Amino acid sequence: MKVPLLDLKAQYQTIKKELDEALIKTAESQYFILGPEVEKLEKAMCEYLGCKYAIGVSSGTDALLVALMAIDIKPGDEIIVPTYSFFATAGVVSRLNAVPVFADIDPVTYNINPTDIEKKITDKTKAIIPVHLYGQSAEMDEINAIAQKYHLKVIEDGAQAIGVQYKNGINVGNLGDIGCFSFFPSKNLGCFGDGGLVTTNNDELGAKLRILRVHGGKPKYYHKIIGGNFRLDAIQAAILNVKLPYLDSWSEKRRVNANHYLKLFISSGLATEPGKIEFSEKDKVLLPKAVYSDSKLKNYHIYNQFVIRVQKRDEFRKYLSDNGISTEIYYPVPFHKQECFAKLALNYSESAFINSENAANQSIALPIYPELAVEQIEYVHSKISEFHS
Ligand SMILES: *Cc1c(COP(=O)(O)O)cnc(C)c1O
Repeated sequence: MKVPLLDLKAQYQTIKKELDEALIKTAESQYFILGPEVEKLEKAMCEYLGCKYAIGVSSGTDALLVALMAIDIKPGDEIIVPTYSFFATAGVVSRLNAVPVFADIDPVTYNINPTDIEKKITDKTKAIIPVHLYGQSAEMDEINAIAQKYHLKVIEDGAQAIGVQYKNGINVGNLGDIGCFSFFPSKNLGCFGDGGLVTTNNDELGAKLRILRVHGGKPKYYHKIIGGNFRLDAIQAAILNVKLPYLDSWSEKRRVNANHYLKLFISSGLATEPGKIEFSEKDKVLLPKAVYSDSKLKNYHIYNQFVIRVQKRDEFRKYLSDNGISTEIYYPVPFHKQECFAKLALNYSESAFINSENAANQSIALPIYPELAVEQIEYVHSKISEFHS
């Protein structure tokens, strides 16, 4: 049996007619940059996320970049980020000649550890970028309390978490100063190329983000500030307008798939319960834990990725691959070990980022996409059982 990590064609088939019509409509309009489809998407996103401003941008990376520009990040400013995330979270900081300062993660949620944030604060710290990794919210109450205490801005990296709610029932993207989202095809809401979104409830930031998106010109050709070309294409917005109404049902299917995996791993004796962080005879596989799953939240975890942890990961991965199962490592190298950040001359102790290092060495993402069949999940589980027997 073949089990890909993601099957975009399967999703396309379910709504092909609507998507094709949207593409043709865009072709016939010959309206390609911003315009009515982007405005429609922004309005729909404000409603869906419950935010005051939603501004379509060119990618999730550009969402983060323009967010940092909007809060006036200057060369030398320090921004605290988790050391374990997709590269863009730290890359955008360096692109503004600011300094990414790394914090370790929580071993259960893989999200930034608030206690470690506070340890990293200096006079130069200007902002924190918590990442809602894999599809569940970071500990925003604690992070916001730290931000308030030290007068820092909070930029949420919600690229993997669109529609996710924090324990207070509020959607991520409304929990800091600016929220950033990605519509890269592998995210829960993906377009036909690159796309992104920034959100805010602050009038001043909302206006500024809009101006920065078009080179900082307002009116056109008159520049008080310098922005960039961070515009979203009409064709991407048209696709997203078709897909948005399905998003919650897709995320629900991912949750159903995740719960099926969890049940299988536990009932077959490969693991005792989700959220364990040590391997043992009874926990050969460490399972992800949705920390707010007992509450009444609609989207407590949207499983953009279903990440387990195993020992002998290379062998494990090869075994699955030999049996037709695709997996991925998100992420093999934490930021503090990336060559491009060597010039930061980090002087950290061996154990400073222990949770991130363990995650980087042991984590592996299994197929979890909404269209995955029950038989495929059971097949993946059976091959994992086989590997461990
Ligand atoms: C995907 C992703 C991004 C970047 O989004 P792009 O649209 O690919 O530029 C940023 N941060 C995280 C955590 C991501 O997963």
